[in-house]
Amino acid sequence: MELSPEAMSAHRLQGIDQQREKDRFFVRFRLPLGRWTAEQLAGLADVVAKTEQGKLEVLSRQSVQMQGLTRAETEAMREKLTALGLSPVNSSSKSMHNVVALYETGHFVQEVAALATFLDQAISPDVALVILEHKFAIPMSDAVPDAMPGAVLYHDIGLLPVARPEGLRWQVYVGGGLGRQPQRAELLPVEVPTAQVRSIVQAILDLFLAVGAGKRMKALVHSLGVADFWAQVQERWTPIDELLPAVEPLPEGDVVITDLPDAVLTAVQLRALAMAARRFTGGVVYLGTERQIYWRGILPEEKDHLLAELAAVGLGQRGIIAWAACPGRASCRRGLIDTALRGAIEAELQQKPHLLAAFDRLRIHISGCPSSCTRTQVADIGLNGAVMKGKPGQPAVTITVGGGLDGAYPVLGTRWGVVEREAVPAAIVTILEEWLAQREGEETFRQTHLRLSATS
Ligand code: SF4
Repeated sequence: MELSPEAMSAHRLQGIDQQREKDRFFVRFRLPLGRWTAEQLAGLADVVAKTEQGKLEVLSRQSVQMQGLTRAETEAMREKLTALGLSPVNSSSKSMHNVVALYETGHFVQEVAALATFLDQAISPDVALVILEHKFAIPMSDAVPDAMPGAVLYHDIGLLPVARPEGLRWQVYVGGGLGRQPQRAELLPVEVPTAQVRSIVQAILDLFLAVGAGKRMKALVHSLGVADFWAQVQERWTPIDELLPAVEPLPEGDVVITDLPDAVLTAVQLRALAMAARRFTGGVVYLGTERQIYWRGILPEEKDHLLAELAAVGLGQRGIIAWAACPGRASCRRGLIDTALRGAIEAELQQKPHLLAAFDRLRIHISGCPSSCTRTQVADIGLNGAVMKGKPGQPAVTITVGGGLDGAYPVLGTRWGVVEREAVPAAIVTILEEWLAQREGEETFRQTHLRLSATS
């Protein structure tokens, strides 16, 4: 049954949306601060086991979704998720669940955890309710600016810690975004002590509500220009010193990062994660920015045991290709192609062992349309569903290469070309052959691309 726009809008505020099949829905919810407890994982395993598809998908912005649900199931599921502390986009609580803590490998892990926790609880719920509809995200990275600013450059507001002689300060980036029209964030001419961060974030959100609601932040910053934007923030900003509550220290020890094949978890895998979280980390794991799981506080002698437990359920292997694919046309109404391309691409590459032997790691992200929900612009190879000129009914794919947020050069991929969907595996072989022909020494795919981009 087709729902009215008003009913659909109310559902969306609760993280429920309609799929391409009108009688099927998906539920999307966030993991506050990317944190997953063993109890939540075990509870989710029970929920997932009762769904027809028997799996959940891990999305970007530390969120998760389940598809193929009837309307009655979505209602029941919302209650179960709320009981687990995983309520969908939340219209009633006093927390803002789109503050994203990006735990990379930098020096300020504890500071990021503390500030993210504080902001998640302290941003005004009135503000949060309005902006949540716009996929607003405030990521904080523990990376040092010279090494990895990329993670905060393509979000609405990004906060990056920097060590100064007078103490820790936060740089504030605004107006970044990916999607159909990627835009790099602008750096505001200010560095803010931790105690004043909430007040400046609130001033930015107040400005957004006053003059930008209905747009994306990137559109507002672009239309005003960063100087005018900053002037208007200053008019609204009264720096307020606030004491951050203490947070539990993150466990000391090694960090082990494991991939999620296809960014999907079954009930069996969720149960295994819950058990491993209890046994190896004190009961908490973290979701990374590339849909990996971060295991913190692992004793060196236990690492192999952890990986063995995960391998038993098809997890934990760090594959040489990191895949991410959105649901695509199979269930998303905007999808232009079926995104199930992994099998065909792997089969093609198996025929070319010299290519597989040439790289340690390659990120291939697939999105069913130009909206780029899997952040195809920042993958080594990005594939987006497209409409081919002169052949509107023919499933086609736009291919971009060389994107990435890692290292000192976070850049968006450049367009390689448009091919018919069935020709994608062969096109990837061609791209990798081109790379090998131009590669110098032991360069990675991305390093070669960056070198060539810098000299062209
Ligand atoms: S990229 Fe397009 S097809 Fe894929 S989930 Fe996003 S909107 Fe849907």
